[in-house]
Amino acid sequence: MKLFDAHCHLPAVAEAMADTQDDALFPTLGKILERAAAAGVEGLAVCGTSSNDWKNVLELAEKVPIIGNEKVALTLSVGIHPWFVHCRAGNACPERSRRETPPETAPKLRGGYSWKIEFEKLEACLRQKKAAMLWLGIGETGLDLRDQFDNHAEQEACFAAHLELAEELNRPVAIHCVQAWGKMLEILRECPQPKKIMHAYGGSVEMIAELMKLNCWFSFGEAVMNPKFKRAREAAAAAPPQRLLIETDSDGKPEKLVPVARAVAELRGVPVEEIAELTFENAREFFLTG
Ligand SMILES: [Zn+2]
Repeated sequence: MKLFDAHCHLPAVAEAMADTQDDALFPTLGKILERAAAAGVEGLAVCGTSSNDWKNVLELAEKVPIIGNEKVALTLSVGIHPWFVHCRAGNACPERSRRETPPETAPKLRGGYSWKIEFEKLEACLRQKKAAMLWLGIGETGLDLRDQFDNHAEQEACFAAHLELAEELNRPVAIHCVQAWGKMLEILRECPQPKKIMHAYGGSVEMIAELMKLNCWFSFGEAVMNPKFKRAREAAAAAPPQRLLIETDSDGKPEKLVPVARAVAELRGVPVEEIAELTFENAREFFLTG
């Protein structure tokens, strides 16, 4: 059984950044790829979330020859995660991995920060890498319009800018959406063309048809294992097979994909092998074809 983790992150970004001579990340990466291979996870889509980790994400392509090792393939993407729209490299956020600064515990974030400076860097990087990295995607980007963020307008503008760039460069986009479905649809309708992965999809079953018209794929993670997340479970059961993906959203724990695959299989009433094969092929199509 082979699996593809359609959305994950790098571990210990700050640790790697701290060691400028010999990035601590890359020995760790070898171990992650070994564990991935042992668990049957043969593909990983790694997302960068702020300019603090883009460098490491992009360096993966150089340190791991031919996108991954002989057993595990990597696809990469870079973007500005909605949690970090207010951040700039060298500022205090995220100091370590994004896991340690969840919005629940972060201080109320102030708007007024110029995400445009960060986006210019991102755009330059994507344009420069375009020829060499044909499989380089955009994201993680998106909207998180919970009350603790007071920069909703900036998040929306930043997300729209990512989509416009994706349309121009013909790149797939990794999207985060929390409590923002109305605005999400509005912005997606402006840029229907690029392929989009709705990571950790938590929208309604009814919205799936509309999102499909906007070229969206639907990825499900650990939430589907928890009966509390009824909407995600219903969506995982109902998503059309040709648009179904699975993910860990983890910082370097690909083996966590196995129970996710089992949970999705159970919800859909099919063998886990079928889910593995289906989502693997869907991920290849999503990430590796133009
Ligand atoms: Zn993520």
